Amino acid sequence: MIPASFDYIAPRSVNEAIRALGDHVGDAKLLAGGHSLLPLMKLRLVNPKLLIDLSRIPGLNGIRQDGEKIVIGALTTHYQVESSQLLKKKCPLLCQTAHAIGDVQVRNRGTIGGSLVHADPAADWPAAILALGGTLKINGRKGQRSLAATEFFLGPLTTAIEPSELLTEIHLPAAERRAGYAYFKMPQQASGFAIVGVAVALRLDAKSRCEDIGVGVTGISDKPFRARAVEDRLRGHKLSPKLIEASSRHVADGIEPLEDLHAAGDYRQHIARLYAARAIQEAAQHTARRPR
Ligand SMILES: Cc1cc2nc3c(=O)[nH]c(=O)nc-3n(C[C@H](O)[C@H](O)[C@H](O)COP(=O)(O)OP(=O)(O)OC[C@H]3O[C@@H](n4cnc5c(N)ncnc54)[C@H](O)[C@@H]3O)c2cc1C
Repeated sequence: MIPASFDYIAPRSVNEAIRALGDHVGDAKLLAGGHSLLPLMKLRLVNPKLLIDLSRIPGLNGIRQDGEKIVIGALTTHYQVESSQLLKKKCPLLCQTAHAIGDVQVRNRGTIGGSLVHADPAADWPAAILALGGTLKINGRKGQRSLAATEFFLGPLTTAIEPSELLTEIHLPAAERRAGYAYFKMPQQASGFAIVGVAVALRLDAKSRCEDIGVGVTGISDKPFRARAVEDRLRGHKLSPKLIEASSRHVADGIEPLEDLHAAGDYRQHIARLYAARAIQEAAQHTARRPR
């Protein structure tokens, strides 16, 4: 349980970190909270020659509003998101999701950026970021690029970020009038990771019809996804319990469900349908409770 030996640096800027990454492609790893990387290193499943600690880089940690957008630094911890007063008002789905992650120690140390890049198929953040239609800002030697969350997750522990790139920020829409949110998760009891997690962000129009909706799903497949078949059935309609239930049956359409010692595939699908319906119902009710 002792990692192989490695060199360690703590750069003071994003550019310095990117330079170090570029100079050691394949041999270097970025270190954020270390809650996913260090266990892998201790098991010697990952053996970087160089660890690049991001914690001394100013500006990578924090939550701010920029016009209609919420901007979260990649190094912001789960706890900072969970307890943010700004997010409680402007994007409560994020506080709810953060609260569902692991335990207090994990939330105090783990970061939103580390979790997204690690891309565990049972991680919580991807469901919320997908449901909200988030965008990821990525810096590399060639400059900055933006990637929609829907293009980011490619497979288990695999994302569209290059080994020489660094995720700097997550951009999300701030809550509008008549917006509602919910995250429903069945946790694996030992770790807290999602056996199934369904996040919903929706907005009603003045006549209480569903103007827009995002349904993000984690835990059930080898990568998180947007349940478009559910969204398309609800957009433009009043969210009656009957329609919600009928639409939610399509949450796993086209998905090959994961099977492991925690849950069978058909059980995961069943829970996903149930939780999709509950999360949509809860998000719709939430619109009525939000201050106008
Ligand atoms: C006991 C336990 C329980 C947990 N329970 C849950 C849970 O219920 N739900 C859940 O979602 N997660 C859970 N986790 C995982 C936790 O959320 C981790 O914090 C998270 O997956 C990784 O974040 P980190 O900051 O620790 O990243 P690290 O471990 O430091 O890094 C993870 C990976 O991302 C890369 N990386 C980190 N930051 C960046 C960046 N800015 N740009 C590019 N690459 C980067 C690293 O190089 C590494 O490959 C649990 C972890 C533990 C140990």
